[in-house]
Amino acid sequence: MKTSRIPGFYNMTVEKRRELLASMQLFNDEQLNNLRKAESLPLGTADNMIENVIGTFPLPLGLGLNFLINGKDYAVPMAIEEPSVVASASYIAKIVRDAGGFTTESTGRVMIGQIQVVGCPDIEGAKKAILAERDALLNDANAAYPSLVARGGGAEDLEVRLLNEGSGSKYGKMLVVHVYINTCDAMGANIINTMVEALAPSIEQLTNGKVYLRILSNYADRCLAKASCAIPPELLGSDDFAGEAVRDGVVHAYEFAASDPYRAVTHNKGIMNGIDPVVIATGNDWRAVEAGAHAYAARYGKYSSMTTWAVDDNGNLVGELELPMSVGTVGGSIRVHPMAQIAHTILGVASAEELAQIIVAVGLAQNLGALKALVTDGIQKGHMALHSRSVAMAAGATGEMIDIIAEQLIQEKEIRVGKAKELVEEYIK
Ligand code: NDP
Repeated sequence: MKTSRIPGFYNMTVEKRRELLASMQLFNDEQLNNLRKAESLPLGTADNMIENVIGTFPLPLGLGLNFLINGKDYAVPMAIEEPSVVASASYIAKIVRDAGGFTTESTGRVMIGQIQVVGCPDIEGAKKAILAERDALLNDANAAYPSLVARGGGAEDLEVRLLNEGSGSKYGKMLVVHVYINTCDAMGANIINTMVEALAPSIEQLTNGKVYLRILSNYADRCLAKASCAIPPELLGSDDFAGEAVRDGVVHAYEFAASDPYRAVTHNKGIMNGIDPVVIATGNDWRAVEAGAHAYAARYGKYSSMTTWAVDDNGNLVGELELPMSVGTVGGSIRVHPMAQIAHTILGVASAEELAQIIVAVGLAQNLGALKALVTDGIQKGHMALHSRSVAMAAGATGEMIDIIAEQLIQEKEIRVGKAKELVEEYIK
């Protein structure tokens, strides 16, 4: 898109926002109609996606604005029920934009398939036998998915690991084959599972052992995406807080998370507040991303902060976020969920690598949004102001009453459903 900077978007009606995006040719008429339909996931589609369907479960879909990533503008679809997340991401993206934008990179799309072998009579010999047949095994894996190879992907390498050494298990050591597979633009779970299942008979023959598990690893540490930003302190300040103080507060907040798992979990939850909504909106598997992200946060043996924040030689606040990001732009539910298709159209990404990089940039923005609020006004001021509308609705407010009651709750600094119910009763009288 030309620009993701759309002043006043926040104050427009939902219909006005849609019309504006359509006029920017971010989606076609059919997609605009899908957005307008209350039922954005047809029941028939849902019934074919999972089992025992009795309905669908919609979430609000918002747009994270102002994202400038590697010089390119993105409006980022975010599906989430929590107030203030989209506002905070857009607010920080604006600050980072004014500082030159996010810089991102990735390691490529190599995912891992695991094959577990137990009961090998000669485990060292089994390892050698597999490594000696490396090329033939990779060919067999690729023969199980020729279309992936035709796209430039496929099984590229393998390794053998011996586990359980000295564990005292009565079952003894086990051998685990790691197959490294470039899944191109797919997340790749089904692709990988197909490939490793195809290898199992040859692996049993080579090892004289028994193969049990044949499945991908969600610890996708060869499918990493990294985002960074450098922000001059003057962009962080306000009338009430000096930029240097905000910058230093953010670094102190990071150091707290880096050294204390109790804080790190909450710190990282805030990062996932940005990541999950994009993963969900784009039809990707957020459980896979969550599992990999938290494991990566413990990669040095202790659960720690996913981000780093420091001050560079010029006094800028410098932030970085690197995570495994096994997402796709094809496959899974993406091809059947109309809203996921709209999200991809709005984003306009050319590859899964590009999508992965956008997602970590949003995670980094979300983290700074939370830390900046925490080291200045506190999290409740902004959050509760936005939360007040949900509270008003929970108390029975409808239509124009919602904004009126929400405003009263903020004025009276009592954002509670009980208080809102009293105000609704008074309003109705
Ligand atoms: P699919 O099974 O849908 O496979 C992706 C398909 O996309 C391929 O079969 C390929 O088909 C097609 N394709 C088209 N263009 C491309 C391209 N450029 N690059 C790659 N593939 C392309 O999905 P995945 O294998 O990605 O699996 C993801 C799903 O698996 C998710 O729904 C996830 O929830 C689920 N899952 C997750 C697990 C986990 O995380 N532990 C375990 C099991 C399942 P063709 O080559 O024929 O065109």
